[in-house]
Amino acid sequence: MHTIDTAYIDGSFVPTSGTVADIVNPATEALIGRVRLADRDDARRAIAAARRAQDALASTTKAERVEMLRRLEATVLARSDDIREATIQEYGAPLARARFVSEYASQAFAYAARTLEDYEFIRPAGRAIVRMEPVGVSALIAPWNSAAGTIASKLASALAAACASIIKPSELSPIQAHIMAEAFHAAELPPGVVNLVVGTGAEVGDEFSVNPDVARISFTGSTTTGKIVARAAAGGLKRVGLSLSGKSASIILDDADLAVAVPLALDGGFNNNGQACIAGARILVPRALMPDVIDRVKAHVAQLCVGDPRNPATTIGPLANRMQFDRVQHYIRRGLEQGANLIAGGLGRPDGLTSGYFAMPTVFADVHNGMDIAREEIFGPVLVLIPYETDDEAASLANDSLYGLQAYVFSRQRERALRLADRLHAGSVLVNTIRPDLLAPFGGVKQSGLGREFGVFGLESFLEPKSIIVE
Ligand code: NAD
Repeated sequence: MHTIDTAYIDGSFVPTSGTVADIVNPATEALIGRVRLADRDDARRAIAAARRAQDALASTTKAERVEMLRRLEATVLARSDDIREATIQEYGAPLARARFVSEYASQAFAYAARTLEDYEFIRPAGRAIVRMEPVGVSALIAPWNSAAGTIASKLASALAAACASIIKPSELSPIQAHIMAEAFHAAELPPGVVNLVVGTGAEVGDEFSVNPDVARISFTGSTTTGKIVARAAAGGLKRVGLSLSGKSASIILDDADLAVAVPLALDGGFNNNGQACIAGARILVPRALMPDVIDRVKAHVAQLCVGDPRNPATTIGPLANRMQFDRVQHYIRRGLEQGANLIAGGLGRPDGLTSGYFAMPTVFADVHNGMDIAREEIFGPVLVLIPYETDDEAASLANDSLYGLQAYVFSRQRERALRLADRLHAGSVLVNTIRPDLLAPFGGVKQSGLGREFGVFGLESFLEPKSIIVE
């Protein structure tokens, strides 16, 4: 049993004073621990600690911060096994995904160190000298579906920019968050440079959004919550970055190698048990190829292995909690009610699984882009196949969405795929791959967010230019 009853504030672990919440293993529904959440006063203490640390951090040299990032890389790497275990136990990520997250968490610091080493903080513009300065105390708010990775990449960029951080992981991922806090502590940074408090959005998240000592918010989560944060932060004109929901399109062009493209598009959609902001949840298929694609989808889904996330053969684990399970069932029901053609999966658990929040990997065909299952983010392993006639129609269907986080194009002709990529309203377009590049700018257009993370764009999101003009 895990007992978590501290927050990491000002260089030490201090008791939290909020309510107690259960931690449940989603694969077994067994109680595996309890967390005493932080409350608004704990959040204020964390902000005050960061405020005290900010000026000294702002005057550190680039080399000193590179060294801090290298230390964090090492201390987080040393906890990789624990992060992987927690991601399986608390979240239900299949082994391969949990391994990726645990490795990525330390790599995020290495990437940021490399970016910082190459970055010029002073540059000319007209008659001015422009100095890039840290924006100040930064609140980093993370969701539960990629806890360690999101915390690591936000912190790495903030620290590279010399911003002291207050981190609010989701209240639904306390074990992963606590391991990260222990790793940060082991790096022996000056007290207050990194603070981490696990609490609810209504208390800790809200305090971060309204407190005048917070200069910037880097938020990852749903579009609904992102708007609440942006509104709350507007009073203090905080610098707000939002990485939000998605309903990404995967476009299979008529010249694509279906033997490669169909499995890749499905894997991109079922990524992270379908609980991925970047999941390619709408698969656009040339109408003439639809029968062939449907056969291939059925064959691929039939060989997916849903079950114990610890089993190396498992490709899809449980949903993270009962609420997620119910949400996914709701959308499958909605798809059936609205007349979509169920070609794989369906309601309920897969055969042989009697407990755990396991949903069936589900695919609907004959889907119209106006149906709820094509418009709303389901955040589970439920994909839709939408037919189209021409590349023009594919682009307009892909763009006919509230969201614009990521898109995927599959084609044998690079130039044709790139021409289509140019027309897609999305923060990123991946061509013939589902593997992201963690140095490339990441973020959304439209209601998928504001601003970019990762690499030099991530670093600059924590900086503000100051112009110095001398006569
Ligand atoms: P969520 O919006 O419910 O919560 C995200 C975070 O916001 C949590 O830490 C939560 O406690 C906090 N929060 C809640 N209310 C708040 C408030 N009033 N003020 C401040 N903070 C508050 O999202 P979730 O369910 O944890 O995550 C899933 C969502 O996140 C999906 O929509 C997914 O697409 C999105 N997501 C986006 C990205 C991206 O990079 N674009 C990455 C992962 C997840």
